[in-house]
Amino acid sequence: MTPILSYVLTGKTNEHITLDSRIGVPIHTRAIFPFLSLQKEAMKVGFDLRIASGFRDYDRQMLLWNEKAQGKREILDYGGQRALDYGELTLNREDLLFALLRWSSVPGASRHHWGTEVDVYDYNAINSPTSEKLKLVPSEVEGGGPMASLHIWLDEMIDAKKAFGFFRPYEQDRGGVAMEKWHLSYTPQSYLYDESYNYDFFIQTIEESDIELKDLILQNGKKIFNDYMKNICPYPN
Ligand SMILES: [Zn+2]
Repeated sequence: MTPILSYVLTGKTNEHITLDSRIGVPIHTRAIFPFLSLQKEAMKVGFDLRIASGFRDYDRQMLLWNEKAQGKREILDYGGQRALDYGELTLNREDLLFALLRWSSVPGASRHHWGTEVDVYDYNAINSPTSEKLKLVPSEVEGGGPMASLHIWLDEMIDAKKAFGFFRPYEQDRGGVAMEKWHLSYTPQSYLYDESYNYDFFIQTIEESDIELKDLILQNGKKIFNDYMKNICPYPN
């Protein structure tokens, strides 16, 4: 692996990232035009498709991870319904680790480092005085949730291969990372990054890092790599 690729995979560079003023959130340079195209199609049917979160660098992910591990940030329960009791979680550090992994990636192993991943929402659905603040939780995207119709439309676009290369790696709950319908991945590029990211590289990244729960992450390395990092829905053909 070239040094530059290893920096891209772990979010330690932003040389693969562009901040386009029409999007307003930094994402992978190659994903800019496809996303603008998808946004344009969405606009035609009344959705104002926007990105809540795109590229996230290593330091940011490390801060989020460590603050959650230290109890300074909320950790959601398995279903994403409520915050867990931190005091209770710390009785067993392994419980804390797996609660974190349900909703957060290990720094250096987040697909958001790649810039190919975007968490999307419909701006129209939250931009009224009566609407609730965007939370990115399952209840928002299912049933009668404010983003449900956007996601039904996105399903149709993805199924019809009209989503300009975007698909949903976390469409279903596969027992690792929670179902995150709002998370789209620009496959033509993310597939290549995924192929390059192997187990040895994962372990090496953790060993070199200053991460909370490091000992436990290394002990559970194989499980975390297989069940969380690589356990995504199959890439489309
Ligand atoms: Zn995401």
